[in-house]
Amino acid sequence: MVLPIVQYGHPVLRKKGAAISLVTPEIKQLIVDMFETMVENHGVGLAAQQVGQALQLTVIDVRESERPSTLELNGQPATVADFMPLTLINPETTPLGPREAGPEGCLSFPEIYADILRPEKIKVRALNTEGETIEFVCGGLLARAVQHETDHLHGILFIDRMDRKTKEDLRDDLDALQKATKAQLKGK
Ligand code: ZN
Repeated sequence: MVLPIVQYGHPVLRKKGAAISLVTPEIKQLIVDMFETMVENHGVGLAAQQVGQALQLTVIDVRESERPSTLELNGQPATVADFMPLTLINPETTPLGPREAGPEGCLSFPEIYADILRPEKIKVRALNTEGETIEFVCGGLLARAVQHETDHLHGILFIDRMDRKTKEDLRDDLDALQKATKAQLKGK
């Protein structure tokens, strides 16, 4: 089922997600719904907060993008496409490379895009849908997506990582979006 996406101004986007200790049937259904929602909206990643659930859960699929990604499994280069779609539960990231600027958008911020500085290569540790620990090293778009989504799970948004000038330039759009979301919440 395609779920409604929560937009900037909704308080759940600022909530730290609860860790998931058991992948219950409800969580499995949520994962299925999150993938459907992400695909429907042409996203490369979606965090549980974006569908109104403050949980340490995100789904990612970079296959639709032409921007390059790299992947290493057990120290060996691996094929990114074979590793997709990707569900990360309780993810933790460790930076491995210097920060690099790259374009980002967010399904909770329609029509708003900006360059964000992030480590270009990271190590990731998480649980998969079977509740097993997975570890991998990634770079490029995949590393950017994992970091953007992991931020969501801690209530951090990409606007928090914009430089001051970029955020100033977007100020009116951000204020308008926040205001519209709050007005809609009040009306419910
Ligand atoms: Zn986002």
